[in-house]
Amino acid sequence: MNIKVIAFDADDTLWVNEPYFLEAENKFCALLEDYLPHHTISQELFKTQMDNLPLYGYGVKNFTLCMVETALRISDNTLNVSILEKIIKNGKEMLQKPIELLDGVEETLQALSEKYRLVVATKGDLLDQERKLKKSGIEHYFHHIEIMSEKKTPDYEKLIKHLDIKPEEFLMIGNSIKSDVLPVLEIGGYGVHVPYHTTWAYEKVDHNIDSPNFRKVDSIKEILPFLLG
Ligand SMILES: [Mg+2]
Repeated sequence: MNIKVIAFDADDTLWVNEPYFLEAENKFCALLEDYLPHHTISQELFKTQMDNLPLYGYGVKNFTLCMVETALRISDNTLNVSILEKIIKNGKEMLQKPIELLDGVEETLQALSEKYRLVVATKGDLLDQERKLKKSGIEHYFHHIEIMSEKKTPDYEKLIKHLDIKPEEFLMIGNSIKSDVLPVLEIGGYGVHVPYHTTWAYEKVDHNIDSPNFRKVDSIKEILPFLLG
């Protein structure tokens, strides 16, 4: 192995994210419980998100707009404005959540930064991801921050080109097989999967990976012997 750059996904790899979305979704479903059962509202919200993804991209602002649109649809445009106001407030609250680093993140970055160039490769709202990085206290470990609108093979090819390295010198670590691992393996890089206890439905894949460039670890710290040994 001749890895030069290690890229980290951010949400649910470096810090807590998905639980905040689940919390907001639960609040949203509770606000609309007069119209539909909880799980049906969740399905409707997911459908709106999928429809809007090409227009809005990822992140909290997209999510908030999708909650508004779903609420209007579910209520057949009869929604009380006070509920609308609460939905918008919930979205704003998501943008002010504390940054909670996941277990072992700081020590892993510290150790790897002595041998590798570290970068962040994340989706989401530009402003929100910048806020989270600033507040995280770990921004100084990274040589480069890439906030991407998608994480597919062309996006990684672009990033690798920008970093001026070859795909086989690039290793990506993240909690999503679909976004953080498969496209990187496809272009000849290395992928490490660190599962998080909860995964957004969109990122879930049923996939057995049989590649010498892949490994799965239970905790981010477990990559240290592999990368520093
Ligand atoms: Mg993630």
